[in-house]
Amino acid sequence: MHISTRTQDNIIRALAASFTYFLCLIAFYINIGQDMGPGYFLPILIPIIMGLCLMQYGTHIPLFAKENLPNLITGLGWCSAFPLLYTWTYNTTWYMSKICFDFVVGTGIFLLLTSLEGLLMQTRQIRLMSALMALLNLVCLAVPITQYAYYIMVWHCLSPASLMALYLTNWRESIDFLESNVGTGWLMVIGLGFALFLYLAWRAHCAFGRRLLSHSMDWEHNTVLALLLAAMIFVVPCWYLPQTSIAELWGDVSNYVSQTQEYGDYFEQRYSTLDIDAENTLPALTQQPGTVIIVIGESASRNYMKAFTPSFAYDDTPWLSQQAAEDPGFLLFQNCYASWSQTVPTLQRALTEQSQYNGKDFVDSCSIIDVARKSGYTTWWFSNQGRYGQFDSVITLVAKGADTAEWTDDSYNFSDKYDMVLLDYLKKVDPTKNNFIVLHIMGSHIYYNNRYPSDFMKWKTEDGTGMATAVSSYANSILYTDFFLSQVFDYAREHLNLQAMLYFSDHGENLVISHNPDVFSFDMVRVPMFVYLSPEYQEALPEQSAILRQRHGRYFTNDMLYDTVCGLLNAPSHRYEAQQDFTSPDYGFTRETLTTMLGQHQLDEDPDGLPESFF
Ligand SMILES: [Zn+2]
Repeated sequence: MHISTRTQDNIIRALAASFTYFLCLIAFYINIGQDMGPGYFLPILIPIIMGLCLMQYGTHIPLFAKENLPNLITGLGWCSAFPLLYTWTYNTTWYMSKICFDFVVGTGIFLLLTSLEGLLMQTRQIRLMSALMALLNLVCLAVPITQYAYYIMVWHCLSPASLMALYLTNWRESIDFLESNVGTGWLMVIGLGFALFLYLAWRAHCAFGRRLLSHSMDWEHNTVLALLLAAMIFVVPCWYLPQTSIAELWGDVSNYVSQTQEYGDYFEQRYSTLDIDAENTLPALTQQPGTVIIVIGESASRNYMKAFTPSFAYDDTPWLSQQAAEDPGFLLFQNCYASWSQTVPTLQRALTEQSQYNGKDFVDSCSIIDVARKSGYTTWWFSNQGRYGQFDSVITLVAKGADTAEWTDDSYNFSDKYDMVLLDYLKKVDPTKNNFIVLHIMGSHIYYNNRYPSDFMKWKTEDGTGMATAVSSYANSILYTDFFLSQVFDYAREHLNLQAMLYFSDHGENLVISHNPDVFSFDMVRVPMFVYLSPEYQEALPEQSAILRQRHGRYFTNDMLYDTVCGLLNAPSHRYEAQQDFTSPDYGFTRETLTTMLGQHQLDEDPDGLPESFF
């Protein structure tokens, strides 16, 4: 096949422009301070370069030609808005995978609009089609423009909290908000700005149409454009768009709103049928007001905790190991598993009646907070995790049942504060009352090196690189959690008459692939759990104490925690199942009958599982 010099030149130009586009955006992400993950960006290199070259081939118009500007700007709006504004707001890294989705969607929108325009222009209705394209640009830009506009107004990127406000607002309120924050004069200026944009975009599209029609558009070029358009329509809105940062946040918020509605509607019905005999619960059986604390860990795997796995090379649980050795009130459980490898599904089950085994509905499930309140406790929920978003939602619904529920950081779906910040919240608790406190920590959530202050950087990687996901950083984060637990314990024992403290993790972690359920491995669900029972507790409830002492080697999954808390507080009801209560003589599960990943795996499939010991 003979390729003319001109064709060769064109191919080289198209390739050079496409690579420039790709590299410039990567450079942009790196320059604003985001880590660039080759694992995410290399696999999309070839498809994106191909898409951009085909687009240039199909339209005969170079990538950076002024005729392409409106579509290019629209795409770049999507590529840039979230990563840039997030970085400007928080000065920290966002998830590499999410940035990659933003990049793919922005580029996909550019390809989609341009191939569509190439086909539309062949109707030869240049002015009309240009108007249509200009409108499409504005529609597609609506989301990035909203993000940038919000940032300019409050110097903060859109967060779940502000998206929540946006979600719950109506037109009237939005206009009021704009009028009071922007002013009518500026609104008119902005309106004129939009009109100017539409006009300029229209002119650029007209030029696009004329340039395109100056070439003979044969079937080959049209086929390329049609295929590119079809591929983009399939890939962008259906597959990648819902996974972009902003779309995912929006999804979380709308999900949360609908769940709140339903969960709230049934609250009275649930709570009124919770028939706990408050005369016999733990607070009724002890002389003085006392406190029970539940600490919910995050991404802690007992495989990488010295107290649970003595062969682990890092001594990252000095406090817990010492307590377990010296204080008979500390009981560690060797064979606890999570019911799933992600936060929300596990905690939804751990905190409520719902479990892998009983098939109950979340909406009809009482929570440990409801049980504690009915048992005579003042209830507190302090969280260093986000209030909305992928980490929380249904957890927030449970938390909001507490007399006091506070989040260290309302603005985002996770906190960049270290867990010790929760200790200040503990100081709000009234020591003259019976208190039931839940502390929800960030623990060892990826990226591990963001979870502890520099004093806790006991272990470093060989060359100091790869700290974000290295085992040494993970061990540091566990070390910090160990310190946090010791401080909570000391404070509560000194000031709040601590009667029982229970720590468990929502799920574990695989130090190479984190805790993605699609690539499941058992370390993602091997979780730590321990309980501390004070001498006063052991005297008040000797049966529970004796049974828990025999549970060291028994198997347990954390979705049965609700019933176990009922047992711990001596608060059975019609909404309680003794066979799921680890403190009960009727506890009815063994390694052979327990499952994880919501029933997909039997626990006896765990290749490293220990034999179950019954004493
Ligand atoms: Zn989690």
